[in-house]
Amino acid sequence: DTQTFDAIVIGAGAAGLFCAGVAGQLGVKVLLVDHADKVGEKIRISGGGRCNFTNRDLDPRQPHRHFLGGNPHFCRSALSRYTAADFIALVQRHGIPFHEKHKGQLFGDRSSEDFIRLLQAECGAGGVQHWQPCRVQAVRHGAQGYEVDTDRGTVTAPHVVVATGGLSIPKIGASDFGHRLAQQFGLRVVEPRPALVPLTFDGEQWTPFAQLAGLALPVRIATGSKPSTGPGRSGEMAFDEDLLFTHRGLSGPAVLQISSYWQPGTPLRVDLAPGQDVPAALADAKRRSRKLLANELAAFVPSRLAEAWSQRDAAWQRPVNEASDKALAALAQALSNWELVPTGTEGYKKAEVTAGGVDTRELSSQTMESSRQPGLYFIGEVADVTGWLGGYNFQWAWSSAWACAQALAAA
Ligand code: FAD
Repeated sequence: DTQTFDAIVIGAGAAGLFCAGVAGQLGVKVLLVDHADKVGEKIRISGGGRCNFTNRDLDPRQPHRHFLGGNPHFCRSALSRYTAADFIALVQRHGIPFHEKHKGQLFGDRSSEDFIRLLQAECGAGGVQHWQPCRVQAVRHGAQGYEVDTDRGTVTAPHVVVATGGLSIPKIGASDFGHRLAQQFGLRVVEPRPALVPLTFDGEQWTPFAQLAGLALPVRIATGSKPSTGPGRSGEMAFDEDLLFTHRGLSGPAVLQISSYWQPGTPLRVDLAPGQDVPAALADAKRRSRKLLANELAAFVPSRLAEAWSQRDAAWQRPVNEASDKALAALAQALSNWELVPTGTEGYKKAEVTAGGVDTRELSSQTMESSRQPGLYFIGEVADVTGWLGGYNFQWAWSSAWACAQALAAA
């Protein structure tokens, strides 16, 4: 005989675990199902194993500052009802030590396991039934509400919460289940694409730089039309972060951040010596120095880069005092406005998140419930809400899960 619950949560990642725990503690009879062998695998590998669980710099009134998607304002309600401070308080109640790293990013001091244990303890306190590993074969809606076929039989509930995440890192359980389920019920899905992902370059364009693999330096990186074309959705996005050269292209926080905004076929602009007056410094060097240009450049960028950079033009492979003013100006310009067009991305194997997903116009921003298909909810990364690097994606998972749990309890 079929078991009946108040809510079935599919996906026991960040959002699913938190939603199940909060709803359970509010008296909702919850079944949580996940097909992966291990619980919370993406939390485990997050933040380099320390879990960057939220960010102190998050103003829910200005979600577009740290989130993207078809409607960045969609996440405003959930983010302001369950804030970073709320999750920080929960972490403190569980006695988990943490620290702030860079730009408001909060990490556990010990290991991501602390956060998986926190979420499991919250589920325990809520009396959540947790079936894992357990596959979900089908979801139907009928007279009994939702019928969900699983490896352990068919279960029914008036509410189904889809928390199956994005497509990134398929080898630890990511699937397009949530997107397919949305389509099965007639909901629009914004074309998914890898985000927070390294970018690749190929052919001759990359040959001079392939030798720089492993090199990191602070840059300003930008994409989109320049501010002079006016503000708005098509305006420039820029980040001041570290850039990392890899064998196949570019990575590091600067590139991960810009990748979420980059449109295929368009260029990136990189200032390799941000905040430095390279033209003036080279003009000055020309008056007082006889060193090779590459050696002078090494005052602004790491010497390996200075070396590779000056190899790009015969006019740059000479002593600075013998270089023409024009060559120096061109060099300074190229260094502070390096324009390059990525060939593509490293794809879902390396992407931290998936942009796109269930169209937020289909969902209530208060409850995450589908307006077309009552009783069906989408929380976390499966929805078309993508955060910046720095803890914003987990905060979206917590906030959307909490909003949904309140709705389940009120139903
Ligand atoms: P997930 O946490 O991915 O959970 C989805 C769950 O659904 C999984 O357990 C999966 O097994 C299950 N599932 C999928 N398909 C099915 C199916 N068909 N049937 C049953 N179950 C299914 N974000 C940050 O904010 N800070 C960080 O430090 C950070 N570091 C990251 C590092 C890496 C390497 C990666 C890949 C991501 C990182 N992220 C980070 C992003 C963050 O992990 C995700 O945005 C977040 O986990 C999304 O939560 P979610 O619950 O929506 O999905």
